[in-house]
Amino acid sequence: MPAPYDLRSDTVTRPTAAMREAMARAEVGDDCYGDDPSVLALEQRVAERLGKPAAVFLPAGTMSNQIAVRVRCRPGDAIATHRGAHVRIHENASAAAISGAQIMSIGDRRGFSLPQLTELCHEESCGWPPVRLVWLEDTLGDAGGEPWPVEELEAIAAWSRAGGRPLHLDGARLWNAHVATGIPLPRLAACADSVAVSLSKGLGAPVGSVLCGDEPFVAAARLHKHALGGGMRQAGVLAAAGLHALEHHLERLADDHARARRLAEALADLPSWDMPTPSTNLVVAPVRAPWDHAEQLCAPLREAGVLCYPNTYREIRFALHLGIDDEDLEGIIAIVRGVIGALPHPAPAPR
Ligand SMILES: *Cc1c(COP(=O)(O)O)cnc(C)c1O
Repeated sequence: MPAPYDLRSDTVTRPTAAMREAMARAEVGDDCYGDDPSVLALEQRVAERLGKPAAVFLPAGTMSNQIAVRVRCRPGDAIATHRGAHVRIHENASAAAISGAQIMSIGDRRGFSLPQLTELCHEESCGWPPVRLVWLEDTLGDAGGEPWPVEELEAIAAWSRAGGRPLHLDGARLWNAHVATGIPLPRLAACADSVAVSLSKGLGAPVGSVLCGDEPFVAAARLHKHALGGGMRQAGVLAAAGLHALEHHLERLADDHARARRLAEALADLPSWDMPTPSTNLVVAPVRAPWDHAEQLCAPLREAGVLCYPNTYREIRFALHLGIDDEDLEGIIAIVRGVIGALPHPAPAPR
């Protein structure tokens, strides 16, 4: 069988030959002493792109998020975020385990509204835990990579700041939001006091996240980076991949978005799911009765050479990325149509 098409995530990309060359050429030092020139260059470059004063390079987006929690929250504090937030559902309860912070979820998987936030904050006067951190995510991963409307983000940010509540933006896929909407990165980043962006999702670097904020925030983040074992010594080889990705893989995200739309359109008439019109690179389709859950469809697709993943129990997800070109896409569409079209129609299962 030929190598499978891997649509499980936009993290599955391998570094390109040009990226590997950039990594091989990287000047390095010891990042824990603050003298790896490639790491310093990456931090400066990302801070500039986002319009933030400072940045720190970290091994993963999860660590960026957890450090943001650790800097802002003491045990007993609350974080306000939407139900589908990565920090709530995909980080193994680390906000509670590492920082003693409780996540208070409002809204739904497509974010939350300013009235929902103000109502939660008013409950503080009734003895609820104090909301010390307002948490945004853009694009909204659980909702299928939807950008969060920037006017809503700006209204939430203005209200939160007026009340002295800092905001964090989990921007693992902020690059996709920027490319899909055309809104400049500094405007998106201005909605929060700290912003985490990923290098290893759509940008295609093997590793890394960059956490941005003002100087005192980043100085505090560097202490927690050390404490959590995030110091990576000659990390310049990894930072060089990030610098290369920023230079060469940012604008091309538009290709992933176009391919996601093409995939959704080509599979929309199949009876097994409700196909969305994706805004960015993720296609998330709820399975339709009589199918009960996504794995019933993922398993035969995997067998046929298209790797995909349940987004949730009842949703199938296809992630487009730089490892999939137009020819691959047509191959994928043919396999999926063949497999799903040939499936027996099971009896409706009780939910
Ligand atoms: C992937 C992701 C993260 C975590 O990034 P890792 O580098 O995999 O730890 C955080 N937030 C969102 C929205 C993500 O999609």
